Amino acid sequence: MAGLELKKINKVYPNGFHAVKGIDLEIQDKEFLVFVGPSGCGKTTSLRMIAGLEEISDGELYIGENMVNDVLPKDRNIAMVFQNYALYPHMTVYENMAFGLKLRKVPKATITEKVEKAAKILGIENLLKRRPKQLSGGQRQRVALGRAIVREPEVFLMDEPLSNLDAKLRVQMRAELIKLHQELDTTFIYVTHDQTEAMTMGTRICVMNNGLIQQVDTPREIYNHPANMFVASFIGAPQMNFMDGKVVEEGGKLFVEFEGYKKQLADEKAEMAKKSGYVGKEVVIGCRPEDIEIDSEEGFEAVIDVLELLGSETYIYFNAFGKTYIAKEGKNFTKGRGDKIKISFKSNVHAFDKENENSIF
Ligand code: ATP
Repeated sequence: MAGLELKKINKVYPNGFHAVKGIDLEIQDKEFLVFVGPSGCGKTTSLRMIAGLEEISDGELYIGENMVNDVLPKDRNIAMVFQNYALYPHMTVYENMAFGLKLRKVPKATITEKVEKAAKILGIENLLKRRPKQLSGGQRQRVALGRAIVREPEVFLMDEPLSNLDAKLRVQMRAELIKLHQELDTTFIYVTHDQTEAMTMGTRICVMNNGLIQQVDTPREIYNHPANMFVASFIGAPQMNFMDGKVVEEGGKLFVEFEGYKKQLADEKAEMAKKSGYVGKEVVIGCRPEDIEIDSEEGFEAVIDVLELLGSETYIYFNAFGKTYIAKEGKNFTKGRGDKIKISFKSNVHAFDKENENSIF
């Protein structure tokens, strides 16, 4: 079993592109760590450097106690599962899963035992004689996982392994991967651009942008206390609303003010605003759709633009002061397009620095 440590890891591609910019990260043994971020942010590059498939330009990578910068991929005791499964089309499921062990000259009886055990974990015992083209996408994905499992690696690396599956199967495989992680009790490192996958699967999430780590923490902490506007907008769907406002003091109490509407800050947030010197200053107010109250007695006026009915929830796009914002309500929301509403914030408002976009509270 092994944890990993990335120390000031950089990747500069031969064409000069600086894809990963000095990232520091400790990944605990048995953790399910998810790299998430928009396309091109450097998450696959980071994973491939861990796998040894991409050379590290600068910095040190440790697996367990050992610096592995110069250790070949096959000697790193890791297994990687790719988005396209990378199965051999002319081999059966059994042969695909056994192939890596055969190359390592593992005795035949041990191979059979390991393949059968992995097939059982994944529920594909009855598919062992089929070839990949006789399988559905979800079944192929299981075979690719099986091939990794039989190697009993210390670390599983997965690069968008669910993105070729349809939406329903993706949800099902998500739950299966969580279960698999618990069963194997091994370190998982997972790359996705999908914030829902990151939130639901990761024990911790590493949010990346432009080759830099933005925040590493549990899904709950990242959602409740995003480090900056990028994280706040990337994690959470629909995304957080941002409004230009101010922190003001009145009668010894602190408020955020947006276009004349004021929301008093909870003690903890007021304390943070004071400590960091933002009283009286302009800020960007952040308010998640579920933290917006509609039809409140006090608040600012808005008009409903668009309603999206999702069954259990309703998304309400409303217009206020020339901009569109979004709120989330239950399934029994009765107002319609063009209706006038009043908007107020629940107590969970955020604020960010206008210049550097870092979180204030
Ligand atoms: P995606 O979700 O689209 O795969 P990603 O976050 O995984 O995105 P990477 O594949 O790590 O992104 O790529 C990071 C950046 O490095 C991108 O801008 C990409 O264009 C660039 N890049 C990747 N491979 C090379 C290469 N071989 N040479 C030059 N630049 C590259």
